[in-house]
Amino acid sequence: MNADEAVFDETSESTLDLEFSIRPTTNQSFENALAAARTGDRLSIADGIELITTGTDSSGIDTARKRKVLEIADRRRAERVGDAVTFVANLNNNVTTACNTGCLFCNFKDSSQQFESNSDADHGGFTKTPAVSRETVAAAVDRGISEVTSVSGLHPAFALNAEHREILTNHDNPARQVNYKPPEKYTVDPGTYVQQLRAMSVDDVHLHSITPEEAHHARRGTNWSYEDIYTELRKAGLDSAPGTAAEILVDEVREVICPGKMSSAEWEAAIEGAVNAGLDVTATIMYGHVENAAHQITHLNRVRELQDRTGGITEFVPLSFIHQNTPLYERGVVSGGASDAEDELMIAVSRLFLDNIDNIQSSWVKFGDEKALKLLNCGANDFMGTILSEEITTRAGGTHGEFRSVADYVEMISAIGRTPVERSTDYTRRHELTPDARIHGPTLGPRADGTPLLGSDDNGLTAPGIVADD
Ligand code: SF4
Repeated sequence: MNADEAVFDETSESTLDLEFSIRPTTNQSFENALAAARTGDRLSIADGIELITTGTDSSGIDTARKRKVLEIADRRRAERVGDAVTFVANLNNNVTTACNTGCLFCNFKDSSQQFESNSDADHGGFTKTPAVSRETVAAAVDRGISEVTSVSGLHPAFALNAEHREILTNHDNPARQVNYKPPEKYTVDPGTYVQQLRAMSVDDVHLHSITPEEAHHARRGTNWSYEDIYTELRKAGLDSAPGTAAEILVDEVREVICPGKMSSAEWEAAIEGAVNAGLDVTATIMYGHVENAAHQITHLNRVRELQDRTGGITEFVPLSFIHQNTPLYERGVVSGGASDAEDELMIAVSRLFLDNIDNIQSSWVKFGDEKALKLLNCGANDFMGTILSEEITTRAGGTHGEFRSVADYVEMISAIGRTPVERSTDYTRRHELTPDARIHGPTLGPRADGTPLLGSDDNGLTAPGIVADD
């Protein structure tokens, strides 16, 4: 088929034409890149660009070429990890939405000033004390979860521990110099990172927390290494670190979407520090905003090199940018997010390019159920987690947040002819579920016994909510 006859899928377009130095041009052909993918050769950056664009010889996504890329990726998934679709029984316990970093893609943070005791702003955000975190986690552990995921805003009152708080306090102007304000200034004291982790560490529940950006916040004003930080946090109960805050690991993109955040090199240093401290990590990409295909593949290449060096990345999570209610969209920098075809190709090329990471996740929070299920046939093998939350368990207020029961998982995964498997965070413990069993509940948590997470009423409970991109 020549370009004139080709059918093209919809692609996304940035509203503003940003002048980037890295551009998606190659000397490679799509056919050669496809041949390399088919034989399982390690793909070059040029191969990756050709595959994810379905060829730089024409604009738009060629549907027939896309189909070939997806088929090869699905086959590679089957060869590498088989037909199981895994998920984890987890709780989201984010500690605070207070943050003053101002990332332009974020709809999660609330300006931290609004959390101060003298503010009468009705911000709708929250901060939890360590005691409240413990209560929330203990109740979820009772229900059977095996993992707590905790990702929070960079609250100015947060410090790593008492010693760090003293160092921050001793600056002449802590707010300006090290983004620190004492807890007494706020309506609710979040405690220290160490106090929060100790509080959430209930029985043997797996604690998945402290992104590279949070670790950066936990060492501000010091020369402590990331390994020091993560070692201290590990002693407080941390088991693994989420590799979010990666966004696109190319600084010219970060300068547009999150100028207040750490650099790409520093993100990598934090991940290496976490692995050196003995923790597992994950890695992510947040795509579909201002970046181009060359940025996306450069990012995948950095993650692949990081995994060659560390071997500590247990899964890769492509996060499609949700544009609504973000400054990037409201200011007209972008006109939307990735198209369906772009999402499919991101999953497929992640599977093909990252030849040293076993697990590629399809996130139902980002894609919705229907598309997320489809992406399990484009190279993905993991279907995220139940994302139980306090709001779900108490049924408080009008918004329940997001939740998928174990029964939902069994039904959805069986419907596409795959095998539902509950997993531990590190994928080493697995429990295959039988679709025709009468009830479905988690079995891998410290107090799990196969009872549904919410008792008899958790089938089909789903509602929209907002989760952090970070
Ligand atoms: S992405 Fe994270 S660091 Fe950035 S504004 Fe949102 S909560 Fe703060």
